[in-house]
Amino acid sequence: MIAKGGCHCGAVRFAIEVATSVELLDCNCSICARTGYLHLNIPHAQFKLLQGQNNLNSYRFGTGAAEHLFCRICGIKSFYQPRSHPDCWSVNFTCLDKGHGIEAVTQGFDGQNWEMACGNLR
Ligand SMILES: [Zn+2]
Repeated sequence: MIAKGGCHCGAVRFAIEVATSVELLDCNCSICARTGYLHLNIPHAQFKLLQGQNNLNSYRFGTGAAEHLFCRICGIKSFYQPRSHPDCWSVNFTCLDKGHGIEAVTQGFDGQNWEMACGNLR
């Protein structure tokens, strides 16, 4: 199915091709815990940025491998490039438009112990 989402102010909008039943990762790392981010990993080819490229600001920390993208107007990170899944965008499940009907189960991801947590994923 196709689902759409974006940031709070509407400047950043995207569409994804996604299954009707998905697994989310709830990460406890220093940035995800602060924002309550729920990760839905979408292969790059199944993600389309509809608008807002020029409104995306980038933030990197630690190894710098992940690129955190947030709307420079409203500050919401609706998707970003995760370190754990280099071939995917991580979409914030909470930023999908209401009424999408996607069933989700959430699994914890121990981002505070990133290397070990990634080993458990694969
Ligand atoms: Zn915005």
